[in-house]
Amino acid sequence: MRDFSNSKRAFAEADKYMPGGVNSPVRAFKNVGGDPLFIAKGKGAYIEDIDHNKYIDYVLSWGPLILGHADDKVVADLQDATTRGTSYGAPTELETELAEKIQAIVPSLEEMRMVSSGTEATMSAIRLARGVTKRDKIVKFIGNYHGHSDSLLVDAGSGMATFDINTSPGVPNALAYDTLTVAYNDVEGVKSLFKEHGKEIACVIVEPIAGNMGVIPGTQEFLQTLRDETTKSGSLLIFDEVMSGFRAAYHGAQSLYHIKPDLTTLGKVVGGGLPVGVFGGRRDLMENITPAGKIYHAGTLSGNPLAMTGGLSTLNQLSEDLYTKMTANTKRLMAGIKQAADDHGVPMTVHSVGTMWSYFFNAGPVNNFDDVKASDTAYFAKFFKQLLQQGIYTAPSQFETNFMSSKHTDVEIDKTIQAFNNAFDAVQK
Ligand code: PLP
Repeated sequence: MRDFSNSKRAFAEADKYMPGGVNSPVRAFKNVGGDPLFIAKGKGAYIEDIDHNKYIDYVLSWGPLILGHADDKVVADLQDATTRGTSYGAPTELETELAEKIQAIVPSLEEMRMVSSGTEATMSAIRLARGVTKRDKIVKFIGNYHGHSDSLLVDAGSGMATFDINTSPGVPNALAYDTLTVAYNDVEGVKSLFKEHGKEIACVIVEPIAGNMGVIPGTQEFLQTLRDETTKSGSLLIFDEVMSGFRAAYHGAQSLYHIKPDLTTLGKVVGGGLPVGVFGGRRDLMENITPAGKIYHAGTLSGNPLAMTGGLSTLNQLSEDLYTKMTANTKRLMAGIKQAADDHGVPMTVHSVGTMWSYFFNAGPVNNFDDVKASDTAYFAKFFKQLLQQGIYTAPSQFETNFMSSKHTDVEIDKTIQAFNNAFDAVQK
């Protein structure tokens, strides 16, 4: 058995100063039981906790670390950038360089703004949509998560799903009232909502590939319906690609479906492990943002040189070929995990798109939040702990996604498949 005593002590200490002992709820192991691991360092596909236990890491900071931990080039570029200062509050050419790179990869971002988190990106995109359309209502999907701004904390996924909270206390009723929710992948539900409220709807925000209730891909028909209905009613379509951007595919989920949203939000990989979010899209819409227009957006640290360097250093190392390789690795891992479940007679559904993957203790199909909720979360909790004992660090919730990096090779994938087999053996005993 692995010894976690240093993490236990560190958690007790942290709990004196921070609610629940953490700075983001999904880091707590509350739903699977036990205390979170405190991490000392990471390199490549591996992390090490403060008890010197090593793990193959599939959380990867919840997605950003597509090149694994402490990539040599990213570290060198950041060290170099730091010697020139950490922030100026004045423009740098790095911001344009990163914007140019993003646009080359995701061309629908004709103009964009850098922010410091995914939450800021989606919050600002919603404000822009409301400001331009002069409408208040927004549509989101049950089990999708778009960060923790008030309008979006209704029927959300991720930690909200893990801790079973529908609408966060503190969200004003008026705002919750203006957030209309529909089941994910429910084409008829979307059509009837637009029939009733079409002219009041400022925008639809959607994770084109949902990653905050495990991985659930949107169907082509569902996403096309969103495109058609928003166009017909004069509202805007926002693809929240904070997670799926540079993850589901090199050019994002929008390239897989051949659907062009009006606005896109990015985060995670785009900062390479530093705090970056981006919102952008149609130039005529973005030109309404201050100081070009009157819809307010600002940020003391927006586009700061370290964050831009983290993003540039990461994006400059990505390529179509790398995604082909990582996607193949992810598929091989999924096949091995599914085989392990079948060999042990455990009902399991596995989903992956590009470098995003998850497994549900559920015979399937899993197409929306109700399906995910039908999974065996008690088995998940036991299984998760066995994986930790086997040296595999995965998301501590059934309602989250795991990730692949460029540093996970056949060696790590084989070890992981073996670990899943061992974990099934241990849980069944
Ligand atoms: N949108 C999506 C799809 C996300 O997955 C997340 C975070 O997981 C966010 C927005 C919020 O991003 P952040 O945690 O950087 O505020």
